[in-house]
Amino acid sequence: MVRLGDADGARFTTRRLVTAAGLAAQACAAAIAPYPAARIPKRHLGKGNYFALSGLKAPFRRLIYPPPIPGALGTHYRRDLGGVARFGPDLQWVEEEEYRVDPARAESFYAAVRRFWPGLPDGALTPDYSGIRPKIHGPGEPQPDFMIDDPAAHGVEGLICLFGIESPGLTASLALGEEIATRLRA
Ligand SMILES: Cc1cc2nc3c(=O)[nH]c(=O)nc-3n(C[C@H](O)[C@H](O)[C@H](O)COP(=O)(O)OP(=O)(O)OC[C@H]3O[C@@H](n4cnc5c(N)ncnc54)[C@H](O)[C@@H]3O)c2cc1C
Repeated sequence: MVRLGDADGARFTTRRLVTAAGLAAQACAAAIAPYPAARIPKRHLGKGNYFALSGLKAPFRRLIYPPPIPGALGTHYRRDLGGVARFGPDLQWVEEEEYRVDPARAESFYAAVRRFWPGLPDGALTPDYSGIRPKIHGPGEPQPDFMIDDPAAHGVEGLICLFGIESPGLTASLALGEEIATRLRA
């Protein structure tokens, strides 16, 4: 039985339930009565900031992905459909969800971008936007794989809970879907 938290107190029954709640994954699992609380991994917030190139044409047509940094994929380059060049995301560990981009982080961006584009002029980067990765590892710890918690692990029939679906979770989404379908059929 799944009870929804809406005004009508709607409820329904299902034999299968998959939770994929991103930053709310831990809260979601904690709200599932028989789910063993001890299995819920600690949530860490890995904010990723972006800076945009202003006043200049995008320097490259293709994506540039330098080698990963510890704990994340690292600052890469992309040109969006409107032709704007963007750099990011970096990795900033934060304690709460807040999305302001600190202009002071520009300094580390100049250093990161000049590793693959030495010609980046001073003053060309402006704060753009940010996102927060739902990490299940903290600073200095090795990045684990996605956590797909199935009945064999937690004992609740028909339930799969996903944790730590951070980058490259979008790229991996079809593979994740296939894996989950396979486990639900097992
Ligand atoms: C800065 C940054 C850069 C990234 N770059 C890349 C990249 O280049 N390539 C890549 O592959 N991936 C990237 N990712 C990762 C990618 O965005 C995620 O892996 C992907 O969005 C995960 O999808 P999801 O559906 O699991 O979670 P989310 O997209 O977070 O969606 C979770 C959903 O659950 C909903 N929800 C939460 N609680 C409840 C509840 N109680 N009831 C119902 N719904 C609920 C939320 O509203 C939300 O809609 C990046 C992430 C960040 C933060």
